[in-house]
Amino acid sequence: MIPPIASRFVADTTASGTLEYVADCNDDELGAILNLLGEHYHERGPADEDADEYCRLVTELARRDLDGCISVKPSQIGIDVGPDVFAANFERIVEAGADEDVFVWCDMEDHTTTDTTLDAVEATARDHPHGVGVAIQANLKRTRDDLRRLSDVPAAVRLVKGAYDEPSSVAHQSKEAVNDAYEAHLEYLFREFDRGVAVGSHDPQMLELATDLHEEYGTPFEIQMLMGVREDAQRELARQGYEVNQYVPYGGKWMQYFYRRIRERKENALFALRAVVGV
Ligand code: FAD
Repeated sequence: MIPPIASRFVADTTASGTLEYVADCNDDELGAILNLLGEHYHERGPADEDADEYCRLVTELARRDLDGCISVKPSQIGIDVGPDVFAANFERIVEAGADEDVFVWCDMEDHTTTDTTLDAVEATARDHPHGVGVAIQANLKRTRDDLRRLSDVPAAVRLVKGAYDEPSSVAHQSKEAVNDAYEAHLEYLFREFDRGVAVGSHDPQMLELATDLHEEYGTPFEIQMLMGVREDAQRELARQGYEVNQYVPYGGKWMQYFYRRIRERKENALFALRAVVGV
């Protein structure tokens, strides 16, 4: 069981408990993007095991007829073991997803993994058009080239600001520069990707821009936010008719993820403190 202090950000330790949480999200008109917590495996065993778990999960999502998909971290399914291990595991997860009509997202990790990740996404998307998508980070200076490459690939794009500390040689450093890049890439996506755009941000400014761009270009879009972050806004946007999908982490390895969430914002740390002292 997830301790109450962490249960705002992590659904459950088990897949079955998490699927019950997904059903609750669906009742509130929210879709779910499930992520089994785990990363940076340097041996094949755990990478293959997590890939197996994702294959079981897509079957269970379909069997329960839930509005949900999955999102996989490259280093969880073998990128640190070798590009071929990652590519093979990703392919079999996407195949399992395609069999059950469950969409598969690929998270993006630090810049040293970008090429390998895009190669695997492109290869699987060509075999399973519109069954796979990838996160693209606005903080990276290479991102416009990556978006141009993806414009010819039948894969979805989730635009995020970027969560990794990257060197200035490859990434914008200031918040302002990252926000400017996000806005410019969002405009490019709405203009060039008429298949649709996933806006992975909690930032009201970016969500407002997405709404304006949708009015201008007619491109469909969905909003993706993390479990435990601006949940009221997620439900309100869903009530207003926007497609909102909540990224839902689960699994036994919740501790590291939870600490990342409370470190990144003062409000989250205060929330955790209140849970401990009971005020
Ligand atoms: P920020 O720049 O953090 O904040 C901007 C504004 O948003 C704030 O001023 C505030 O108004 C509002 N806000 C933000 N957080 C809160 C909060 N907790 N409470 C209230 N208001 C808040 N990164 C990757 O590198 N790779 C990935 O694959 C990846 N996948 C992601 C998937 C999803 C669904 C999401 C939502 C994020 C993902 N990220 C990923 C993380 C992303 O890169 C950012 O680090 C993270 O989303 C913070 O940026 P932001 O756009 O939400 O806004």
